[in-house]
Amino acid sequence: MGVPTTAELENNSNQKKYTVNRTSKGDLVISKIVCGLLVLLAMILIALAALLTYFLLPYCPNEATPEALRKAVVKDGPARLPRSIQPLHYRLQIIPFLEEGNFTTNGAVQINVNVTESTNKIELNINDIEINQHSVAVKRVSDDKSVKVSDQKYDNESQKYIISLAESLKEGDQYQIAITYNGKLNDYMQGFYRSSYIDSNTKDVRWIASTQFSPTDARRAFPCFDEPSFKAKYTVSIARPSNMTSLSNMPKRESVVVVDRKDWIWDHFKETPQMSSYLVAFVVSDLQPFRFNSSEKLFTIWSRRDALEQTRLAMDIGPRILSYFERYFGIDYPLPKIDMVAVPDFGFNAMENWGLITFREAVLLFDEKISTVEDKRAVATVLAHELAHQWFGNLVTPKWWDDLWLKEGFASYLLYYGVNFVFPDWNILTEFIMTEVHKAFAIDSLKSTHPLTFTVHSTDEIRQMFDPISYSKGASIIRMINNFLGERTFKAGLIKYLHTFTYSNARRDDLWDVLTQQAHEDGNLHDDLSIKEIMDSWTVQSGFPVVTAVRNGKRVDVSQKRFTFDKSFAEDTLWWVPLSYTTDLRTNFDDTSPKQWLKKETGKNFEIEANRWWLVNPHQTGYYIVNYDEQNWRALTENIMSFPTTIKAQLISDSMDLARAGLLDYDIPLKLIKKHSLEDKDITFLPMHVAFTKFEYLYNVLYSTPAFGDFDIFLSTIFSFAFDNVDFEDSPTHPYLVQRIRRTVIKWACKRPETRCVATARHRFRNLMSGQGSQEITANTQETIFCTAIREGSEPEWNFAYEQYLTTTSISEKETILNALGCASKPWLLSRYLDYMIKNESGIRKQDGPRVFRAVASNYIGQSIAFNFLLTNWKQINEYYGSAFNTISKMVEDLTIFMNTESQLEELLKFRKENWDSLGASAQAFDNAVEIVKNNINWMKINYRSVEKWLQDHNDHYVI
Ligand SMILES: [Zn+2]
Repeated sequence: MGVPTTAELENNSNQKKYTVNRTSKGDLVISKIVCGLLVLLAMILIALAALLTYFLLPYCPNEATPEALRKAVVKDGPARLPRSIQPLHYRLQIIPFLEEGNFTTNGAVQINVNVTESTNKIELNINDIEINQHSVAVKRVSDDKSVKVSDQKYDNESQKYIISLAESLKEGDQYQIAITYNGKLNDYMQGFYRSSYIDSNTKDVRWIASTQFSPTDARRAFPCFDEPSFKAKYTVSIARPSNMTSLSNMPKRESVVVVDRKDWIWDHFKETPQMSSYLVAFVVSDLQPFRFNSSEKLFTIWSRRDALEQTRLAMDIGPRILSYFERYFGIDYPLPKIDMVAVPDFGFNAMENWGLITFREAVLLFDEKISTVEDKRAVATVLAHELAHQWFGNLVTPKWWDDLWLKEGFASYLLYYGVNFVFPDWNILTEFIMTEVHKAFAIDSLKSTHPLTFTVHSTDEIRQMFDPISYSKGASIIRMINNFLGERTFKAGLIKYLHTFTYSNARRDDLWDVLTQQAHEDGNLHDDLSIKEIMDSWTVQSGFPVVTAVRNGKRVDVSQKRFTFDKSFAEDTLWWVPLSYTTDLRTNFDDTSPKQWLKKETGKNFEIEANRWWLVNPHQTGYYIVNYDEQNWRALTENIMSFPTTIKAQLISDSMDLARAGLLDYDIPLKLIKKHSLEDKDITFLPMHVAFTKFEYLYNVLYSTPAFGDFDIFLSTIFSFAFDNVDFEDSPTHPYLVQRIRRTVIKWACKRPETRCVATARHRFRNLMSGQGSQEITANTQETIFCTAIREGSEPEWNFAYEQYLTTTSISEKETILNALGCASKPWLLSRYLDYMIKNESGIRKQDGPRVFRAVASNYIGQSIAFNFLLTNWKQINEYYGSAFNTISKMVEDLTIFMNTESQLEELLKFRKENWDSLGASAQAFDNAVEIVKNNINWMKINYRSVEKWLQDHNDHYVI
């Protein structure tokens, strides 16, 4: 049997239905009836075997802990492919059918491979694909000699298709494997999937076929060697109806009419460079292209016709950020084009597929009139992140998923450079500590956190890597390297690394080697020391240290210990800690080079020149927090107004985290924040935002306690200046930071709730309901106005907002309204809202499910309703959302916001135990959730009384 031709594929496609048992000559192998009977017989036998096993095996009560049970469930099997066969080139032809009742694909793939070790077995990854078994053919490339296939079978457990051969493939020879198959265009945003939108003119449903292959779903679209190190070239052909377009990584080579289907076109794309399977992509749709600058040749942005105007921001900054990175790396973007597509249903924020970047609409589309300042920030940051990936990830790819941070950390770090280049007035580099470092600390402060890099095998384990540890901690430790090596050495090292591993794969040790060599050349690393030695302590070990610095005259004693919110947790992990510092006598906040190191040692001492205060780790360039003696904390508090904004934010964050962990008296951070907030007449964004974020924890943990009243007075007093001076009068022309301050301040003012804020919000919402005054509500103020009106109102307000959600075509407005709908104070409205999450017909897209859940769970009234909902609908939610995108993990983590009692912990543990066999990729989230609730309970035991007393004692002094 030969390799199937395009014509055969088309014939196959004309059938539209599966032709699994049909040979290329058309003779059926087994009739359907016989086949059905055989299947029935097999099922009876399996059922009998299962019953026998059940009755014959002794019953063993399981005494293991839930963690151990879970670990047993996470499949640790031989999921990896053997290394004996290396793919060189894929010729892929695929026909997606976007028709109601027939969301399927027909495909043919020919893979040229190189045999590096003699073998008589070919293992390929597949998932949810039916192979046309009679099409499977293997031949030697040099002489076209066929190699007989002796057996072939699915191994569903490890997502493989195994082809056994009658003779061995010879080492050093090239072969071609040819397969035709049928696949599905699923609706859970993995592999080759279907998405849709409603045409605003005709009200018709428009279908889209798009891909999301990262990390392990290329195998849902075509049989392949689906691991990042199996780089190969791809020549893709896609058939599509003539009224649609198709896109892939490369530009089109030619388009030809499909034989026998005049209304269908084959698009043949140019061959790609050497690349990993997870970066292959294709889109078939009637989305429209937009190029507002005719001189722009590289970039095209695609969106729904209605939203084309909203692509201007991305079109403006995309090419500029790309050329910034080209200059930064000294390597031109290697592909001839970039298409960026706003896909209506999308699991992640965006995916960096080489030359065809796909986005969730909300992070590509922007309209000043209907999008918020945060939306603008999201478009810029996500765009820059994906463009940085074109080098870090696409050109040089991690060898395996255990080093995922090597691409995600770099993209998350370098995006700040890209955005800073196009929006210098945003000062975005100063936000890094809040958006990355503090975000990573929040998870890394848990005992259940994981190291940046650890062994992963199964798909579930790989999916768990996509969390803030890989992204934000990855970015934070890269920033640390940059600061201790210096920008010049760091950049030169990166460029060398990119050049060395171009079109190839690398491990973290490869990066360490290059950086070590560069640092030795530049003379800023001791000859005996390697970057690996320093950085292994940050990448292989979990968590991060708290550095305690105590001064006695000139002598300073510095020690390190792992930081967790559980003070009793003892562990002797040690890090290589770069110690930069400044003092009141020699003040220089910009010098972040280390003056001392803690070299994996518990402590050391040295001398410094300081009079009143001194500060370790300025701008938090080291990934650690710092505790001081009380005298220094008091001096830092006294002088806080003289520090740069990032230092203020850092002190607020560190002191609040230390107090939460029981390592510092709450008197220090509360006085520090109080002093800053009362004196900060400019209302600076960063320290204020960090203070509010940290107060969110106290707000939630105290919400149902007697101390809440005093806490609320404290908040209203220290932020009175902000509450009094920031109002709803908003305009997109206001500076970026002014807009962001407004959003934070009015959110908290109405949340407290402050009478004026509530009155204004309700008034404006009423005007909107009565058909007037829509201009009174801007994008930046909409969420607070809607949330407040819905919370204070009842069904009419909720229904009105929901109606608005359904009718608006703006994705960012949809997200804003989804957040606000969870503010309802009527439990039945919240239950109804949660129900909508698992009903397709509700109009809530699957990608927005976690947003709905979070909106309800972060409302005090809604949290137990959300928990019950997850409890009673666990199976249905699992089925509806599938295992992708950690949707359920996000829900589990959101559950803990208000949980601080033993009975709540018991419920959570019981739930985890009862569902242990279906936790899958959310297992880590459950461990985190249990620990967070335990910490909250501990917090109540250790801190509650003292915080309550502090608030009471200081109540009289609030008024100034
Ligand atoms: Zn990324």
